Amino acid sequence: MPDKISKLHRSWVMSRVGSRNTKPELIARSLLHNLGYRFTVNGPHNKKLPGKPDIVLPKYRTVVFVHGCFWHRHPNCKIATTPKSNQDYWLPKFRKNVERDRRNQTALQKAGWNVLVIWECELKDLEAVAARLINELPRETKYELPEEIESHRLVAEQKNAFGL
Ligand SMILES: [Zn+2]
Repeated sequence: MPDKISKLHRSWVMSRVGSRNTKPELIARSLLHNLGYRFTVNGPHNKKLPGKPDIVLPKYRTVVFVHGCFWHRHPNCKIATTPKSNQDYWLPKFRKNVERDRRNQTALQKAGWNVLVIWECELKDLEAVAARLINELPRETKYELPEEIESHRLVAEQKNAFGL
């Protein structure tokens, strides 16, 4: 690591590695919770699945990563700047992060998991994130007609039975 990057910065970077309960993650969690989804943040899946997903929704076989735009290189994002100096340090580091994310995502998908990424910058517009989550979370696999429709169907059948 170049000398120009201070020890202080290095310890900050190290403290971020594998850190949990970051602010964006907490926001994403409360959003999901408010939408009525149940999930784990510290369960066996969170610890053992590739990439140690921040949020796991076992019922939906879905994992959610809350990604910082800078470190995970959100494409076309203002936050994902590239420092002008020390590019020999930054560029390979960024590349490694992106490659690692891709590898983890592929491994998860191969194992049958649906992978969602929430970008840090997206959390500025919670309604948009909420809409995307609802849209992208797979429907529950169990199909049950709502009671109302079910009773209409019975009524219709009864009518048929009487030749009406
Ligand atoms: Zn972003």
